[in-house]
Amino acid sequence: MIRHRPSEGAVDRARELRATMTEAELKLWSMLRGKSLGDTKFRRQAPIGRYIVDFLAPATKLVIEADGGQHSVEADAERTAFLEAQGYRVLRFGNAEILREPDAVWRSIEAALRGDHPHPLAARVASPLQGEEALPPLAGSVEAGASFADFIWFRTGGAAEWLVRPRDAADLAQFLGALDPAVPVFPVGVGSNLIVRDGGLAGVTIRLPKSFAKVSIEGDTVRTGAAAMGITVASAARDAALAGLEFLRGIPGTAGGAVRMNAGAYGRDVADILVEATVVRRDGRIETLPGSAFGFSYRHSALPDGDIVVEALFRGQPGDKAVIAAEMDRIAAEREASQPLRSRTGGSTFKNPPGHKAWALVDAAGCRGLMVGGAQVSEKHTNFLINTGTATSADIEALGEEVRTRVKAQSGVELEWEIQRVGKA
Ligand SMILES: Cc1cc2nc3c(=O)[nH]c(=O)nc-3n(C[C@H](O)[C@H](O)[C@H](O)COP(=O)(O)OP(=O)(O)OC[C@H]3O[C@@H](n4cnc5c(N)ncnc54)[C@H](O)[C@@H]3O)c2cc1C
Repeated sequence: MIRHRPSEGAVDRARELRATMTEAELKLWSMLRGKSLGDTKFRRQAPIGRYIVDFLAPATKLVIEADGGQHSVEADAERTAFLEAQGYRVLRFGNAEILREPDAVWRSIEAALRGDHPHPLAARVASPLQGEEALPPLAGSVEAGASFADFIWFRTGGAAEWLVRPRDAADLAQFLGALDPAVPVFPVGVGSNLIVRDGGLAGVTIRLPKSFAKVSIEGDTVRTGAAAMGITVASAARDAALAGLEFLRGIPGTAGGAVRMNAGAYGRDVADILVEATVVRRDGRIETLPGSAFGFSYRHSALPDGDIVVEALFRGQPGDKAVIAAEMDRIAAEREASQPLRSRTGGSTFKNPPGHKAWALVDAAGCRGLMVGGAQVSEKHTNFLINTGTATSADIEALGEEVRTRVKAQSGVELEWEIQRVGKA
């Protein structure tokens, strides 16, 4: 494993952060120092590579982070991916969660130190699998009971019965080929369009690690691993003066998720740019399919459940780097102004019905700011639901259903969920 030495600057910055800890960080620090943790010792504001993590137990390689209201979930996902690639395990808690539910936070930390699933809401779910020995061997890693709430955008939801991170496409293919066909398989990106219900998800969840995030330029096309983020793909295209991929700048998910969802914005979507994608089928076959084979429609592809996109080839057109960069900056600024980017959210909740804007229907039905438990219709953009810090997935889904009922009553239009909802309530 590559070791990342902290820079001089990082060490100075860590000192500065130690002197200016937030109320939630101080509370967490007093718990980590004061309670009995056996031999485990935590350090605070510890530099790892270019990052400074809030709390680190070096011996067990456990990182604990306190997320404030201004956290960017997209940046958190990149940071977590980096730390996990270095062999660290990352637990994140919202500031509100730490201050309001310290006992639940403490139980999660204890469970993580014991090697159990790390989240109090994480629940084992029924499955045809009898134990880890029922899974075929794998060069990558398998984690039992991994909490979705640790990494998906909403930061809610139960556990993945098995979270599998394959080493490469061949590893994934042989694993799926040998896996009992009765076991459900679910690919997850960074969960920017996902509600996982509180009872968790049975079967195997596939999360592609950093080794699937390579991006390269081939003539007028961009070849990308499915785990690369939209912003990374758009930036690579810009650096190669390729136009037409700017819209990916505004999509805070992975390339694989973007293909599956036919993600789009500003009048363009993946269907417009996908030349071909490589898919590992549920039965283990690896196939490279042309864009036309994906049956794209609005925010939808016909990719069968359990098939996993591992690579995509996107077409651009030669353009002017400065113009492309300006368009990406415009997209970033517009998103910042109009969407709750710094909240725990799941993107557009409902598809735009033909001839309507979902946000306008939600607004007209009086749902702006509406709350169920800790879930709220965003005040900033009414087609976004947010977790204010204490929401469960049940709160979020119930809020979405309440909005659908009110919109139907007010306008007669039946809203269709765009966010994928999976798992057991
Ligand atoms: C603030 C915000 C703004 C957003 N703006 C937009 C927007 O403008 N336009 C838009 O279209 N979307 C938008 N979204 C939604 C979301 O970013 C996209 O749908 C994105 O493509 C989902 O990618 P993901 O990696 O997060 O997928 P996830 O949410 O993890 O998964 C979504 C679906 O894709 C499947 N999937 C994930 N990875 C793979 C894979 N490798 N192979 C096969 N299937 C896979 C999952 O099984 C699931 O069905 C926004 C979301 C947020 C939070």
